[in-house]
Amino acid sequence: MKEATTHIVLIEDEVQIRRFLRMTLESEGIRVIEAGNGKQGLAEISARQPDMVLLDLGLPDMDGVDVVRQLRTWSSVPILILSARSDELQKVSALDAGADDYLTKPFGVPEMMARIRVHLRRRTSTAETTSPIFNFGEVTVDFPQRRIMRSGQQVHLTPIEYKLLSVLIRNAGKVVTHSQLLREVWGPGHIEHGHYVRVYMGHLRQKLESDPARPAHIFTEAGVGYRLIKG
Ligand code: CA
Repeated sequence: MKEATTHIVLIEDEVQIRRFLRMTLESEGIRVIEAGNGKQGLAEISARQPDMVLLDLGLPDMDGVDVVRQLRTWSSVPILILSARSDELQKVSALDAGADDYLTKPFGVPEMMARIRVHLRRRTSTAETTSPIFNFGEVTVDFPQRRIMRSGQQVHLTPIEYKLLSVLIRNAGKVVTHSQLLREVWGPGHIEHGHYVRVYMGHLRQKLESDPARPAHIFTEAGVGYRLIKG
């Protein structure tokens, strides 16, 4: 952590905790961008592209688990959850939603710093981020706003269609298998429901492709899965 350029977005509504964490992190040479609620936090992450996010689960405007869920549709930034909740279910749902790690308050500063170092190291070795705005063909996907435009017209996607598209975009250029799509979009209990993917992929093509019968971006990889090509 020698580079003074490490940035962390800290999403926490309690001013005292925020101030304490800011001083602690700054004394380690880390730049801290503070946010007092979930919406502001998502906006800061989209604008600043930080190296890591520290996130409190109990926020005034939205549940921290939903912050994780929204963030994971367009970013792979490491997320360390800081929460007073000792509830196992909360930890599990935050991790399932894509958080990387979890600390229960009160925690010691040395432990927090050790966890942060682990995630920053991992990040520099596997640096991979999706831009918050993704374009393909005539389609623009604005992840922070959850807005999809096609040729300047807003397109309405159902939550399932939106998730499906997010997984394809996160893996743009790569094949995504049927079971990977089922697991990420519908959850681990639906692995045998391969026809769901076919039906919903058809809906996506109807809404996003100029010629849904001959797609130019959302390709079928016979017997394997699907692949999104920017083109
Ligand atoms: Ca709180």
